[in-house]
Amino acid sequence: MQQSITLHNLRQQLVDSGLKATHQRIVVLEAVTALHGLHPMAEEVYQRLKPANPSISLGTVYKTLDTFADTGLVRRVLSQDGGKRYDANTDAHSHIYCSNTKEIVDFEDAELDELLTAFFKKRNIENFDLKGFSVQLTGTKVEPDKQIRISKA
Ligand SMILES: [Zn+2]
Repeated sequence: MQQSITLHNLRQQLVDSGLKATHQRIVVLEAVTALHGLHPMAEEVYQRLKPANPSISLGTVYKTLDTFADTGLVRRVLSQDGGKRYDANTDAHSHIYCSNTKEIVDFEDAELDELLTAFFKKRNIENFDLKGFSVQLTGTKVEPDKQIRISKA
């Protein structure tokens, strides 16, 4: 899923989402894609693109990211502290959240998806068409200086 970010690529993603590929949108999409895996807040996206694009305001970045989220180009990720983060990884996946460092790490696990799919099939929630799910694990990193690692059994 990791693609190199090219201008052509970014334009195509915008057009595929039904958006006009304006310079502003291209720049914001490039920044949020480059920060992929870090689940940045709007401020962090803004800090990244500001040096090369001093005319774009933080407000514009906010608005543009929300437009992207509404069209499914990025996902909104809520952290436990209420901060709004953005995720350029739009494939179904879950998250691990550390409440000390506020770090959010992707957690992709086919086995978990299978378990949950089977579970909800059995539950058969009435009057609800389930399109997907994502789990967020909340906790604290045990060794603050180490990266969170996921090892499969
Ligand atoms: Zn993610």
